[in-house]
Amino acid sequence: MGEADLHCHTTASDGTFSPEELVALAARIGLKVIAVTDHDSVEGVAPAQAAGERLGIEVIPGVEINTDVPGAEVHILGYFVDHSNAELIEATSRLREGRVGRAKRMAEALTAMGAPVDFRRILEIAGEGAVGRPHVAKALLEAGHVTSSSEAFSRYIGRDGPAYVERQKFTAAQACALLRRAGGVPVLAHPVHYDRYGAIKGALDLDSALPALKTEGLMGIEAYYPRYDAITIEYLLGLARRHGLLVTGGSDFHGGRPNEPDPGSVHVPMKAVRRLRAAWEQVQA
Ligand SMILES: [Zn+2]
Ligand SMILES: [Zn+2]
Repeated sequence: MGEADLHCHTTASDGTFSPEELVALAARIGLKVIAVTDHDSVEGVAPAQAAGERLGIEVIPGVEINTDVPGAEVHILGYFVDHSNAELIEATSRLREGRVGRAKRMAEALTAMGAPVDFRRILEIAGEGAVGRPHVAKALLEAGHVTSSSEAFSRYIGRDGPAYVERQKFTAAQACALLRRAGGVPVLAHPVHYDRYGAIKGALDLDSALPALKTEGLMGIEAYYPRYDAITIEYLLGLARRHGLLVTGGSDFHGGRPNEPDPGSVHVPMKAVRRLRAAWEQVQA
């Protein structure tokens, strides 16, 4: 059992423990340091830190940004981020609202410019599918504001149209840059995936991806993670050495999913925590 866990989720994203409950559990287990790293949200940080102060546990502010890499799950952790940073708050809330929020913004823009469409009707048209601009176009057509779907795009919701709303998405590089601007230390989360036979399967070609990400501000990789065996950890430690990166680790606790390890069950050396903090202090200076 370790003393640190740098990867924990709460109800601010898809965890089942509130920030206070997570910190209380960590205190019971005997952890000294945890990081709250919710998906696309920093809302759990302040309540977790308040609880940490009461219970004598250090809570490192963090976030885990989901990026848009086709065919892969590339997540970038940000440690010691300023959770009151306006750009970070805005970007993460846009990431969370996703497709539905985007369709809603387009409906609002259309209504404001005299072509009112009912947002609920857009969702109805989309049905079970992921809502997008073709459904907005159909709603415009139904409401009689245009005579064809292509007119809807050319007059309103095409890329240069007045009611176009960009979908918030980040490449891994953009996520690193955002986290740096928010004063954080960007770290590539769970760099190795396993296939169903348990063999190592990298989502990225790490040796070629890491130098590019490093220029964008990446400072570390997660080397201690559930199911990472000694060979995988050695591989990741070697990768970090080769590329001059920090290592972090954690349980990726979500609050009791089946087979999910408890906080602290992945051993993270305190040395890694100290180095992470030192790196952060250096970028602040
Ligand atoms: Zn993740
Ligand atoms: Zn996670």
